[in-house]
Amino acid sequence: MVYDILILGGGPAGLTAALYAKRAGVSVLVLEKTIYGGQVINTPTVENYPGIASITGVDLAMALHDQVTGLGVEVRMEEPTSCQLDTDPKVVTTSRGSYEAKTVILANGVKRRQLGCPGEERLAGRGVSYCATCDGAFFQGKVTAIVGGGNTALEDALFLANHCTTVHLIHRRDAFRGSAILVQAVEKRENIVLHYDTVVEEIQGENKVESLRLKNVQTGEETALAADGVFVAVGLMPDNEAFAGQVELDKAGYIVAGEDCRTSQPGVYAAGDTRTKAVRQIVTAAADGAVAALGAAGVVGTVK
Ligand code: NAP
Repeated sequence: MVYDILILGGGPAGLTAALYAKRAGVSVLVLEKTIYGGQVINTPTVENYPGIASITGVDLAMALHDQVTGLGVEVRMEEPTSCQLDTDPKVVTTSRGSYEAKTVILANGVKRRQLGCPGEERLAGRGVSYCATCDGAFFQGKVTAIVGGGNTALEDALFLANHCTTVHLIHRRDAFRGSAILVQAVEKRENIVLHYDTVVEEIQGENKVESLRLKNVQTGEETALAADGVFVAVGLMPDNEAFAGQVELDKAGYIVAGEDCRTSQPGVYAAGDTRTKAVRQIVTAAADGAVAALGAAGVVGTVK
């Protein structure tokens, strides 16, 4: 069969697109390569989604998934191995088969950036983690460090402070990038120690994380910090290599698309964190999903 809309990615953008597509009466398939929810599942608590005062990232992802599948949308856990986006129909192939569609919505999200210091790769999974929600409970009663100064690092620090005796929050500048409300909450927690103007030179330990070599970028002074775990929260990166040459990417690698979510390729839309945009939030990803689906379904504008 040729689907009306094929959606790549089962995060807030992709699942919202599926919701709107299904309600518009068109046929739709969602392909998700790992776990539905996208970056949301890494968020301990979501407190800025309108109408919901507080919900865990996992619960929000589950609610979205259940809402969409409850409407009868097909969501398959399959990873695309190749995409042909300039043909009619468009073809997406996974290890289990090929899927054809009149339009495609790229809602594939972003990936976590790595720190890039010695020891990080070697000790990944042995004290180095990229997801506090997933791994925080392993550090009950222990000392951990978090690297980063955005909302993820601040939220992770607050989450880990509930499990760990001490949480060291290490940021390379003298001011956090994240929201004031989170900064204030972090500053109030007695077991969170703030290290401004500080970078991690090396993560050390024989078979597991034991300590960090830190450097103060103002004074050049190096210090050792004992820690049982390190959580890396230094931002996100585009994950669009598979689409290069088929849709226009910006210099950083994000898919070029405006508020209508149309890409340079007719019939291909980009929604959520994967596209060029100023604000990457759950609410803006969901909004993109609605816009892209209604565009792809031909409800808004004309499908190019
Ligand atoms: P982010 O906002 O891009 O912050 C990344 C942080 O890591 C920055 O403070 C940056 O420092 C630092 N950094 C980057 N590369 C580094 C390196 N090599 N070494 C040391 N530090 C480095 O990323 P994020 O916190 O993951 O958030 C991503 C997006 O999701 C943002 O739009 C954020 O607002 C959103 N988000 C929102 C919420 C919420 O609203 N509750 C929760 C989580 C995430 P500089 O500040 O010096 O650049």
